[in-house]
Amino acid sequence: MNTRREFFIFLGPVIAVLAGEQAFAMPMLLESDPAAKRLGYKSQTDSAKRCGTCQHFQGKKYDGIGGCPLFPGKAVNTNAVCNEYADRTK
Ligand code: SF4
Repeated sequence: MNTRREFFIFLGPVIAVLAGEQAFAMPMLLESDPAAKRLGYKSQTDSAKRCGTCQHFQGKKYDGIGGCPLFPGKAVNTNAVCNEYADRTK
C-alpha cells in the first residue's frame, strides 16, 4: 500500500466483513430475555414486518441473523420482530 487513501480503500470491505461476522459470534436473543420481553420481541413471525425489513437490522437481507442496536451484544433472527419495528422502505 503506497498511500493512506489506498489503505482506507482496502480497510472498508474488511471492516464490513468483520461487522457481519460479529453477528454470528453473538448469542441469539431469546424471548425470555428481560429486554426482549420489554419490547415484545418474538423470534418468529410470518408478517412482512420483521427484522429483515427493519431499518434497525444490522445484517444483510439473506444472512438469517444480524445485530440490532436495541439489543446490544445479541443477534436477532431475520424472521423475528419487536414493537420497535421501523420499515426500512420509509
Ligand atoms: S428493532 Fe425490533 S424489529 Fe427491528 S431489527 Fe431490532 S428486533 Fe428486529
